[in-house]
Parts: sequence; structure tokens; C-alpha cells
Amino acid sequence: MATELDYYTTLGVERSATDADIKKAFRKLAQQWHPDVNTEPGAQERFKEINEAYQVLSDPQRRQTYDMFGRAGLGGDGNPGFDPNNFGSFSDIFDAFFGGAAAGGRRAHPTAGSDLRYDLRISFEEAVRGTEKEIEFPVYGRCETCEGSGAKPGTQPVACDNCGGRGEIRTTRRTMLGQMVNVTACPKCKGEGKIVTEPCETCHGEGRTERTRTLRVSIPAGIDEGHQIRLSNEGEIGVRGGPAGSLYVAVHVTPHPALRREGTELVYEADISIVQAALGTTIAVPTVDGDEPLEIKAGTQPGAEIRLRGKGVPHLRRTGSKGDLHVFVNVVVPAKLTKRQREILAEYAAEAGESVAASPGGILDKVRDALG
Ligand SMILES: [Zn+2]
Ligand SMILES: [Zn+2]
Repeated sequence: MATELDYYTTLGVERSATDADIKKAFRKLAQQWHPDVNTEPGAQERFKEINEAYQVLSDPQRRQTYDMFGRAGLGGDGNPGFDPNNFGSFSDIFDAFFGGAAAGGRRAHPTAGSDLRYDLRISFEEAVRGTEKEIEFPVYGRCETCEGSGAKPGTQPVACDNCGGRGEIRTTRRTMLGQMVNVTACPKCKGEGKIVTEPCETCHGEGRTERTRTLRVSIPAGIDEGHQIRLSNEGEIGVRGGPAGSLYVAVHVTPHPALRREGTELVYEADISIVQAALGTTIAVPTVDGDEPLEIKAGTQPGAEIRLRGKGVPHLRRTGSKGDLHVFVNVVVPAKLTKRQREILAEYAAEAGESVAASPGGILDKVRDALG
């Protein structure tokens, strides 16, 4: 279980903070930590905490419950109706704060649906070449009984009497700087401007029901571990006809058994013997398109690099451009030799005029041979 967060500490406000203080603190932290703007590792986790704290403290009723009973009072580890993993995009949050409100043009609008995240695993080859995948996931769709209105068939939602159907409450106050107009979402209709008096029985007034959705996702060539593909409007549809959120497909790539990937470059380490390095040989190099023969020239030194141009990974954003496959030659010195191999190498040393350690295959062996 995660350690208990103190929501006030998370937002850096006093327990006596006003709603405006909380909103201001959240806006500042969101600018700093929202994953759309901050790509540092841990930013997403931090933002989730900030968002969770804000969701509770910005709601007077839940804030009161939290003040009295702590997090446990909000219902176990999950807060009903709130998933800290689902949060709006950076611009959505800023729309919520500034969206026309500053200009006085805020309109009654239904709540947008949540963003969704889908974790998709693909093979190394699929990541390099690109692919198309069919994914299946549970999602809210428009309720067919009420066609998304949330009202029982035959009835209509009525205009909210608290805000006159505008979805917002305006308060005007005079200050030294002039007249200030404060616009907030109507608490009674939650900014929608309409109230469902007789809820649809299928969706209980939500205007949406959960179902399984199948979607084809095209994965571009060159995608890498940790990349996300954003499909706008493919997330959950909103409550009572609100706009849909985005679907984020988080891509995970299974590593290749022999090739290492560094961005658009591929690296292969080829083991060859001393003799192969000295005399030259042809080896098989694994590539994304299968094994390819590669000539190792006579006299190749340990650590030598042979570059196979264009055999790497396509650039995600520059079409037609590809990285290279780098083959590093690793010359392996044999640790065990047969008697015959030792004799041949000793002969080689004699020919080259090199002094070598007296091998156990020398005099002792000859004595043993003579006796045996
Ligand atoms: Zn319905
Ligand atoms: Zn209202």
C-alpha cells in the first residue's frame, strides 16, 4: 500500500486555505508537473498525487470528510468516481481554468470523458518495421436507451433553476481596480446547465454505458519502448453527451535476443576465433530482415567495427531515413586446447620466432608417449 499522502502538503497550502488558494496552488503545480509538459521520470507520479489532492480539496464536501476522517473517510484506497490515473490533458486543465471564463464567454458544457491508457506489447521487429494491431478494451459508450441524454425516454432534461441554464454563476464585486466579474461553474448542475429529473434506467442518468471496444491502431516504424501514441476522441465519452477523452497507447517492445537498439542504431557483437580474425572468414549477422552474410577480412583486429549502412531502425519523423547496424568484432582466445591444436600453435610460434610458455604438451608428453 502506498504511504498516506497529506493532501495539504502535496499542494503546499495551509489547512485553512481558501478554495481560491487551492486552485491557485494546483494551477502552479500543474504547470510544472503535468506529463504533457514535464517529461522527467517521476513527473507523472507526482502529477497524479497533485491531481488526487486537488480533486479532494476542491470539493467542499469531500474536503470536509477528509479533514475529519483523513483519506480513509473517502472510501478505502479508491475514491468513488475518481481514478488518479485518468486526468485531462494539459490544455484541458487550462481550459478548465481560463477557458473563455476570463473573457466572460464560458458556456454551459457537459463534462468531458476520461483519458484512457492501454499498454501494448510488440516484438522488436514490429517496432522497427511498423505494424497494425487490434486492441480491445472496456470503455464507456453512448447509452442507446436515452441516446446519451441521461433522461428517461419520453422525458427531457430541464434547464437548471440555479443558473438559469447557463451552467455558470457570475458574481460581480467592486474593487479599487474596478468591477471584477467572477465566473464559476454552477454547483447544482455541475456546469451543464441542465438537470435530469427522471433518469434513464439503463444508465442511471449518466448517458453512457460500459462496453468492450475493438480498435485498430497503426504503429509507425521506428517506435521505441516507452513511446505513447495519442488517439484523440478515442477515450471515454463524457457524461450526458460530453466530448470524449483521449486514448494513450503506451508501447512496450520485447528486446531482440542478439541485437541491441540505441535509438535508430543497432549493435551486434560478433564472436570470432583468433584464426578467423587472422585468416578472414564470413559470418552470419542477424538483421531485422533475417541473417545476412558478412565478410570479415584477414587481419581484422579485436574491437573492429563494421558498419552496415541503412540496416538500422527508421527515423520516426524523417521518412526514408534509417540508422545503421554496427557490428563489433570480438576476438575470442581459446581457453582449452587439444594436444594437436597446441602442437600446431607451438609450431606457429616457432615459425614466428615468438617465445611461449613451456607447454605441458612438451617434454612430459614425449616421455609419457615413450613409456606408453
Ligand atoms: Zn441512458
Ligand atoms: Zn445550474
